[in-house]
Amino acid sequence: MALPIVDTFGRKHTYLRISLTDKCNLRCTYCMPQEDMQFMPSKWLMQADEISHIARLFVEMGVEKIRLTGGEPLIRKDAGDIISGLGKLATSLTLTTNAVYIDQFIPELKEAGVTSLNVSLDTLNEERFRAITKRDHFAKTLKHIRLLLNEGFVVKVNMVVMRGTNDDEVNDFVRLTLDEPNLHVRFIEFMPFKGNRWDLSKIVSYADLLAEVGREFQYQPVAGEMHDTASRFRVDGGAGTFGIIGTVTHPFCEGCNRIRLTADGKLKNCLFDTSEVDLLTPLRKGEDIRALIYAHFQKKHFAHGGHAGFSEQQAKSEYEQNREMIAIGG
Ligand code: SAM
Ligand code: SF4
Repeated sequence: MALPIVDTFGRKHTYLRISLTDKCNLRCTYCMPQEDMQFMPSKWLMQADEISHIARLFVEMGVEKIRLTGGEPLIRKDAGDIISGLGKLATSLTLTTNAVYIDQFIPELKEAGVTSLNVSLDTLNEERFRAITKRDHFAKTLKHIRLLLNEGFVVKVNMVVMRGTNDDEVNDFVRLTLDEPNLHVRFIEFMPFKGNRWDLSKIVSYADLLAEVGREFQYQPVAGEMHDTASRFRVDGGAGTFGIIGTVTHPFCEGCNRIRLTADGKLKNCLFDTSEVDLLTPLRKGEDIRALIYAHFQKKHFAHGGHAGFSEQQAKSEYEQNREMIAIGG
């Protein structure tokens, strides 16, 4: 067993998020620029055997959980093979997906030991879905969330809440959890990335979200774990839970254990840190990449990639220097 990946703040990094592609079958406004998005040429992407090789190294270095993300991970033709390969490692495996193609992967997911998935859904209104995603997959997304629940998976529905776009639906989403023990909703504060026209006024904060739920429901906190990004709650008498991922106003950097690998094989030590280390090129040359990984985590900032806050000025000057969210892997 290799040494664990520990940063200068003593945080042990045991959770690897691998982006399989920067491409997607949806066009969510908060995730990617509406024009001029330059997708990576396919030859830049890590191949299935390279993903498996890098993942195995990370597992030797103490990674206990792997999440596949993107872009949309399931648009890759070899997504099933990648899931099956990673399912053999001694880690838990999960995915973040828009669920449009999930019906084609149920056997592979089960065989790989996947028990829980995160599914993005920002509205329960078909027209709004089209406005947010620029695509017509609303009915399919709902049908596939139901399919996952019927197949026995735990589904965590991720909703990015934006003022004036979908903030009037918060309690409709909470209502989904009342009778479904395997359905959990997570409200995500809107975060700034390259090209996503972020501004502070569009954020619905952690405090505002709790106040909104409190207008209709009584709820209690649910005990969490150190590495949780979401603070979780359960409505009195409810079966599932709701949670809030308050990256901007209620950060959780103290317990961060996350490692990010972009689809082109660049290592990021934080979602917001613009510095990246290329693992794929040295791997292709047959070099040992472990020293690069340890060194990059020695440079990890305590919070938010070293940015001091989230002002509109910072969004323009600092967060715009990062990649688009779709190209990082959420
Ligand atoms: N395509 C998959 C999906 O949508 O679930 C996986 C990739 S997506 C980038 C991962 C997660 O990031 C989604 O839950 C999405 O809602 C979230 N996300 C994207 N852009 C965001 C932003 N600007 N602020 C907060 N969350 C964002
Ligand atoms: Fe695609 Fe997911 Fe980004 Fe939406 S949030 S554009 S589904 S990658």
